[in-house]
Amino acid sequence: MQRLMKELICPKCGNTTHNLYENVCKTCFFKQFKLAELDPVLSIQICARCGSKYERGHWTDTKHDTDTVLEKVESQLLLHENADIIELGFEPQKLTPYQYIVNVYIQAEIYGMPLEEKLTTEVRVQRGVCDACSRIAAGYYEGIIQLRASNRNPTDEEKKKCDHLVRDTLIRMEKKGDRLAFISNMSSSKEGTDYYIGSSGACRQICKIITSKLGGEHQESPSLFSQRDGKELYRVSYAVRLPKYVPGDILYFNNQVLQIKKCDKKAKCIDLQTGKKVIASIEDIEKAEFLGVYNDAIRAVLVAIEDNAIMVLDPTNYQTVTLKKPFFLTAREGEEIPVLKTEYGIIPIPEEIKA
Ligand SMILES: [Zn+2]
Ligand SMILES: [Zn+2]
Repeated sequence: MQRLMKELICPKCGNTTHNLYENVCKTCFFKQFKLAELDPVLSIQICARCGSKYERGHWTDTKHDTDTVLEKVESQLLLHENADIIELGFEPQKLTPYQYIVNVYIQAEIYGMPLEEKLTTEVRVQRGVCDACSRIAAGYYEGIIQLRASNRNPTDEEKKKCDHLVRDTLIRMEKKGDRLAFISNMSSSKEGTDYYIGSSGACRQICKIITSKLGGEHQESPSLFSQRDGKELYRVSYAVRLPKYVPGDILYFNNQVLQIKKCDKKAKCIDLQTGKKVIASIEDIEKAEFLGVYNDAIRAVLVAIEDNAIMVLDPTNYQTVTLKKPFFLTAREGEEIPVLKTEYGIIPIPEEIKA
């Protein structure tokens, strides 16, 4: 059995046809059908320094130039709403930093019929300087982070760690849309580092992160620096004070000899006599007496080991002293162990310092 196809007449051209598409025959339909529309010339504005783009009165997004160009073309491309797009291809060609040609390839289907189209547009790129970059260039900053340590100079390692934290935080804040999250200047000395930062919000975030990772505290002190349009503008100094003691430091505190293991919100220490963990507030631990670090130790010969005691030879006067056996002792008789010589006597310390 054969299905009969009804013959129809196209109201536009009068030809007979089996199918009408939007009320006309196939030929007439394709004559008037527009799969896609794209302006032959588009223009965009890109910051010459950071690549952010200017759109609807704002600078946004730091991207690769080509991505910005393609994004513009994509946003301006109008596709027929009834078409099923099978493939959409963009082929950008950079002629100069100011001119791109973009070919657009479209494969689609309309009412089950395949069709292809190629469109071309020219994208003209205006190179400007965005708000953030012009501020960086002018040395703009809202806050200064002053990185210091309490009663000592920050170690090189601490400075390096902080520097990473500062830069990582700024990158994250910038990605989140804080366009002033940049370092506009910095200076470094033995006492610490100063960072001049574009955004005070970023400063606060950086301080929080540094003190949560390395301990210590921070203080804000705003100072008025100008008035503009009746508004008072402040610059804020953020004084970050790293804790007095760092991991590895050996202290005398509450009749115990402690070694700092970690310092953040609290000081986590180990009692070098018993091996017990001791947690103290930063405020309390800063009152402790500093005895030394591993590098201050001298080597002493371990003369004898008993159940709860050891005998070592004081290398400064060759007298044998009896000490409580420390929990970490692994050396054998006749070997040398590191000791600190202090006003509290000779103190054996662990061979390896795990900070
Ligand atoms: Zn027709
Ligand atoms: Zn810029």
